[in-house]
Amino acid sequence: MASISVVYSCGHSGVEDRTDIKSESIDNWIIWVKANKMCRPCFFAGIKAKLTREATEQARLLGLPSLHGSDKQISWALQVRLKILNGPPPIREGSKDYDPNVNITARDVLPMQEEVLTEIRNNSSSKWWIEQKDKTLEQLVLEKLKDVMAKMTENKRDFGGSVPPPDEGPAVEEQEPDEGGADGKSPF
Ligand SMILES: [Zn+2]
Repeated sequence: MASISVVYSCGHSGVEDRTDIKSESIDNWIIWVKANKMCRPCFFAGIKAKLTREATEQARLLGLPSLHGSDKQISWALQVRLKILNGPPPIREGSKDYDPNVNITARDVLPMQEEVLTEIRNNSSSKWWIEQKDKTLEQLVLEKLKDVMAKMTENKRDFGGSVPPPDEGPAVEEQEPDEGGADGKSPF
């Protein structure tokens, strides 16, 4: 058991407990540490800085804006933003009717989704991204589309959508054709 005082490659000093080094090798090991080994805080800060550099570069390639906030917030938000934007948006070309109840199709919603996606991508607040960290892109887009969808639903109801106003609701059941009428021929 040996507690050995060392100076790390980063310049910080510390104490290492080593039981596996023969006493005649200690001096060589101390020299090796000074040349090659960082203290733990510097080691982890180095990893974090590397991740931040990589995320910054990816963001640049994706054309995303620079983030605002403290250094700590920014490095966290960079990771969160990439993770979220990596997910698929909820509505995709060729999706079947998005909400058949109100006859809103994917085609109707896609342009709105584009706007919402642009708004999300352009958000440069680190704080905002960190607050969204547990959400998927799908959830974020749907949250923002909710108001738009509600308006579209209203419009579809007002202008000939497939869903009757609530007060006409029961009429649907009464419209079922009776026997003989199902094939389109008059039973009479
Ligand atoms: Zn250090």
